[in-house]
Amino acid sequence: MTKELKHYINGQWVESSAPNKLDIINPATREVIAKAPNAPKDVTVEAIKVARRTFESGIWSDQSPQERAAVLLQIADVIEENIDELRDLEVENNGKTKREAQSDAEEAASTFRYYAGLLNMPNGQTYEAPGDMQTLIVKEPMGVAGLIVPWNFPLLMSVWKIAPALAAGNSILLKPAEITPMTAVKLFELMDQTDLPKGVANLVLGSGSIVGQTIAESHDVDVVSFTGSTGVGRLIMQAATGNMKKVSLELGGKSPNIIFDDADLETAVDYALFGIFMGSGQVCSSGSRILVQEGIYDKFVEKYVEKAKGIRVGHGNDERSQMGAIVSEKHFESILNYIEIGKEEGANLALGGNRVVRDGLEKGFFIEPTVFTHVTSDMRIVREEIFGPVVAIQKFTDEEEAVKIANDTEYGLAGAVFSTDQNKALRVIKRVRAGITWVNAYHLTNIQAPWGGYKQSGIGRSLSTYGLDEYQETKQININLAPEPVRWFD
Ligand code: NAP
Ligand code: MG
Repeated sequence: MTKELKHYINGQWVESSAPNKLDIINPATREVIAKAPNAPKDVTVEAIKVARRTFESGIWSDQSPQERAAVLLQIADVIEENIDELRDLEVENNGKTKREAQSDAEEAASTFRYYAGLLNMPNGQTYEAPGDMQTLIVKEPMGVAGLIVPWNFPLLMSVWKIAPALAAGNSILLKPAEITPMTAVKLFELMDQTDLPKGVANLVLGSGSIVGQTIAESHDVDVVSFTGSTGVGRLIMQAATGNMKKVSLELGGKSPNIIFDDADLETAVDYALFGIFMGSGQVCSSGSRILVQEGIYDKFVEKYVEKAKGIRVGHGNDERSQMGAIVSEKHFESILNYIEIGKEEGANLALGGNRVVRDGLEKGFFIEPTVFTHVTSDMRIVREEIFGPVVAIQKFTDEEEAVKIANDTEYGLAGAVFSTDQNKALRVIKRVRAGITWVNAYHLTNIQAPWGGYKQSGIGRSLSTYGLDEYQETKQININLAPEPVRWFD
């Protein structure tokens, strides 16, 4: 039986009255796993009103940080108790591997724990100003936070936003990607079992153009936090101007992975594979451009292609699979189209390029690990975000050229340098205009560090203390410690 999904508004599961339901698909099999409502504008507006009311009631925002922390820890607990189910739902709906989904679910619990921990820390600043003035700089919740997330990390992206937004004392409305609502619905079922007051956290399922747009435009929403494409980010920023709401945008990338001649070859090849093929390349921070210095270019390409050939593509729930499905037919077609563009542009297709149809994969959306070499900076496959298992390997001669190619992009999300010369590595990574970077590694980050991009990769940061700031107002309170008239007009 396919599950009928519902909205969660004011602590109630709300059935949709509209007859048109969206089929939620397992991208590995094309089976329909659930039916989701497509909320009209009025349902979204109602959910925003509920969030506004609960915020203003103080039922959550006036609780002490310790009390809010206790609830966040309850949420972490229920996530952990249900980790297998969350993992399996993510595999079923998104197509990623079990190992990837397991790591997402674990990080989801850790993120709630981290923000619970921050709530037990002092927050703010003080300053002793002249004239016996004591200044307190305090943080307060913004109000209503609208949270719009993509399909590539449906659970984790939701949690990266929900945990700090709730920690700060906001009320929230979450809109998952239309095609991947399963783990968000489960997360709200779990949060419903905790002491989080009703109406503080709301969930509305539906399209970006209606639900997302309504959130971005609403004058009752004080901050909109969005993760997704740069194009939609631009629309959100425009829609946000009506009430000057704060915007926090985590957008696309085309991140460079720079490999110098003196790099440890095995390590560089390994991370360069992990950098693009993890999550089938549907990761905003993917290292989709590999820049290799001319001295090891041929050797690197040979080893890289040989290793990439061995990646086992398959059903996410098959323990042997190392790379799962592409999330949807539409996205699958878009990636295959980019592969055609790469061929037409004259790049050398060194590996892959096809859908995978072998043993039981013929119904799903699977694409081979695909490697293009001999690419140039003007090619579309080098400039545009493909968001799939497609990597472009480019040659450079020296440090100066590596930096120039690396920064020759409108994006600035992530980047890495591989070299055994630590001075050079640090020198170069400091010149890469990106927010998330590595030396001799890729993709390994932690909740304690801020996540976000330069240039058109976004505005603001997720995670860490910076991630909490996104959901807080900052107020100065100036206290006169020796009150007497100021006598300005005497
Ligand atoms: P997307 O089309 O931008 O969608 C992201 C979310 O925005 C979805 O929930 C979507 O709803 C919603 N949306 C669409 N149109 C909207 C509108 N006019 N107003 C408000 N919301 C709207 O992105 P995607 O195709 O799902 O995901 C792929 C892209 O996301 C890639 O470009 C990738 O780089 C980026 N991404 C970035 C990060 C990061 O951390 N920087 C992380 C993940 C993904 P629907 O589901 O109805 O379309
Ligand atoms: Mg979309």
